[in-house]
Amino acid sequence: MKQIHKQLLSWYKEHGRHQLPWRNTEEIYHVYLSEIMLQQTQVNRVRDEYYPQFLAKFPSLEALGDAPLDDVLAAWSGLGYYRRAKNLHATAQLTKNGLPQSLKELKKLPGIGDYTASAICCFGLEQDVPVVDTNIARVLKRYYALLNTPDKIVWEKAENFVNTKAPRAHNLALMDLGSMVCTPKNPNCQECPLQKGCQGKEEAELYTQTKKKEYIAMELFFGVYIKDGKVALELSSDNMYKEMLVLPKVEPLEENFLGSFKHSYTKYKLDVKLYKVEELEGDFTFLSPDEFSSAPISSLTKKAQKFF
Ligand code: SF4
Repeated sequence: MKQIHKQLLSWYKEHGRHQLPWRNTEEIYHVYLSEIMLQQTQVNRVRDEYYPQFLAKFPSLEALGDAPLDDVLAAWSGLGYYRRAKNLHATAQLTKNGLPQSLKELKKLPGIGDYTASAICCFGLEQDVPVVDTNIARVLKRYYALLNTPDKIVWEKAENFVNTKAPRAHNLALMDLGSMVCTPKNPNCQECPLQKGCQGKEEAELYTQTKKKEYIAMELFFGVYIKDGKVALELSSDNMYKEMLVLPKVEPLEENFLGSFKHSYTKYKLDVKLYKVEELEGDFTFLSPDEFSSAPISSLTKKAQKFF
């Protein structure tokens, strides 16, 4: 095991993604934020856009907890999965003096599960704990030839495999290895530092077959009502964009068709159709197009903007 740990670390030293900003900070709030953002969003988008912009607006946990939820949702706009932003905000309100420093306490906070708690403890606090994300799980399943294995067993393997002398570098190395070498398709075993002991390398893809993602196709119809140059928006009550501002839903109309576009959101493939409406009943927030960027508006609604 000692030899494998050594090879893994030396691979990481040479090939690891050391330049990622959340790997060069001692602020656990930054580590926590990056982990939440990275859950459903590509590394490059988080690194180049959302992470620096969000930190510029909310530089500390305290600033985040003090901010109105609408401001947090507006800063999150475009990242999707808005529950993450709400949980971040709720956690910040509960922990203004700092995040707890144990797995057990972290997991009591909104939106922090096994993975995020471990990542905070390991990457933010250098604690000797296993971390299992999809990349690490893939490496471990192949390395130990684990077929149809429950997550609990993969976590146990991860725990046994941790390099207790360098847990942070070890887990980051496994993560990068999964992302760059032990990829879902065509893993590059020739370049892998774990090659020698890997029990699954002959049929690597067999150990990580995944079900094809299933999508739900939906048609959505929205009304565009403009008064004094401002667009009517309502607070969404459905789960898809809960608490975000969206265009009001309407029944499909025979006339006043403005345009249509496709949009993907989580498991939904949406076919969106927009209609100009002359009158509306109910409570609405009216915003000018310029105000869209600073309001909690869904990316779907922003996309619709080009039609009005
Ligand atoms: S040897 Fe191949 S299958 Fe095994 S961990 Fe390395 S890249 Fe993955």
